[in-house]
Amino acid sequence: MQAQPIMVSLSERVTALAQRLHLRAMGVYANQARCSFCGKGKSQVSRLIAGGSKPGTYICTECVAVAAEIIAGG
Ligand SMILES: [Zn+2]
Repeated sequence: MQAQPIMVSLSERVTALAQRLHLRAMGVYANQARCSFCGKGKSQVSRLIAGGSKPGTYICTECVAVAAEIIAGG
């Protein structure tokens, strides 16, 4: 019955590693956040809105305004 604690410990370590990698990936996305439409970085636009479904997807306020104009028929 010595294998069980080792398996739990390994599983915990894998979980911890996955969480750390996830946090690192989120940090990378945050640092490299740029508009998916025009490619402008976070510092080049007034606001960057994160997409909900796909990580790393953003739209800036300028592109939102352009899209709104197109939708309005302008
Ligand atoms: Zn944009």
